[in-house]
Amino acid sequence: PRSIVIVGGGLAAAHAVESLRDMDYAGRLALVAREQHLPYERPPLSKGYLAGNDDRDALFPHDAGWYRDNDVTLRIGTAVTDLQLSERVAVLDDGTSLGYDRLLIATGASPRTLQVPGISHAVTLRTIDDSERLRAAFQQGGRLVVIGAGWIGLEVAATARQAGMEVTVLEAADRPLGAVFGPVLADHLARVHAKNGVTIHTGVRIEAVTEHGVVTSDDTFEADLVLLGVGATPTSGLAESAGLAVDNGILVDERLMSSDPYVYAAGDVANARNTVLGQHLRVEHWDNAIRQGKLAGRTMLGIDDSYDWLPYFFTDQFDFSMEYVGRSSPDDEVVLRGDIDGGAFVAWWLRDGVVTAGMNVNVWDVNDAIRAAIGKPATEIPDLG
Ligand code: FAD
Repeated sequence: PRSIVIVGGGLAAAHAVESLRDMDYAGRLALVAREQHLPYERPPLSKGYLAGNDDRDALFPHDAGWYRDNDVTLRIGTAVTDLQLSERVAVLDDGTSLGYDRLLIATGASPRTLQVPGISHAVTLRTIDDSERLRAAFQQGGRLVVIGAGWIGLEVAATARQAGMEVTVLEAADRPLGAVFGPVLADHLARVHAKNGVTIHTGVRIEAVTEHGVVTSDDTFEADLVLLGVGATPTSGLAESAGLAVDNGILVDERLMSSDPYVYAAGDVANARNTVLGQHLRVEHWDNAIRQGKLAGRTMLGIDDSYDWLPYFFTDQFDFSMEYVGRSSPDDEVVLRGDIDGGAFVAWWLRDGVVTAGMNVNVWDVNDAIRAAIGKPATEIPDLG
């Protein structure tokens, strides 16, 4: 290809650019990003950066000089509004357009909302600006109500609590993160939060958000600040209106090629075929955005490669720091090794006696060994805890 356009300014985009130049791609390369920032890391936005502990510059994998040195045309603060697939043209919201031989869509995901009255009183967390606004609203003794006990909701709950807020989490399901963890580990995480003074209510139905708090089907929770953390949806409207195949994200094959051979997708927006799992999977995690970004860079150049990496993610909430690898179901059997009461242990998920996933909690440098055990019989679980 002589001209490549990358749409979206997240990690998938940044790593696609990096891998293209690493592979000695010497053609034109443009990055079109809607936010007024260079691509950046989002995990700190609910953790260290939200707490005010991290340096802002550390969020950016590359600075402006790096893009200049790598001859990348930056269109920051600009969105692609239309794709004309047959002409291979991307139309931008400033009225200009860019032709391409290959185009990567890495538009990420956007916070989901709730259809209840007054929801505009709640804030969401996706961007640096959201994180800075949230931090500015933290105050000693202030009351935060978090709607949704997912990753972001629980991380913000922990950070806000450590900043001196009174924190209540309202969850619709009967456990926090139960759909990922299953009951035993979800209850462990709930205890970590309770021990640190976060109140989690489960089985809650939200009826309204007001200026003063949250109204549920059987209670009212007063709040100075309400965070809505009920998940994200793929930002795939552009792909859909262009006529690309979209089903829970942009459908791409194991090379990350979409239903149009000149258009690829990577990161949170991509529902990609995973060759290890033998199925399509959309993953909303940091490691996946980096790896798919790099892979798309290679495959757009015609290099034969495929996505064969099991999902991996991490979280930090109070003294619960973990890495998870694999893909479990909530009804898989869970085996714990180590000191769960002391908080340092390894959890294994099993289905029909075969390892589906593993998680190291406050035990380090074992994640590769856990990854290697996935797909093996339970009898071969290594002693790591
Ligand atoms: P994004 O980071 O969403 O970037 C997409 C970008 O494209 C956005 O800037 C968007 O504005 C832009 N865009 C959208 N449409 C257009 C358009 N039409 N034209 C131009 N630009 C457009 N993962 C973990 O594994 N561990 C964690 O601890 C963790 N913590 C997280 C904490 C927070 C607060 C958040 C929000 C996410 C966290 N994640 C974590 C998830 C991880 O950050 C995401 O998986 C990752 O950011 C996805 O990268 P991406 O490049 O696919 O998309």
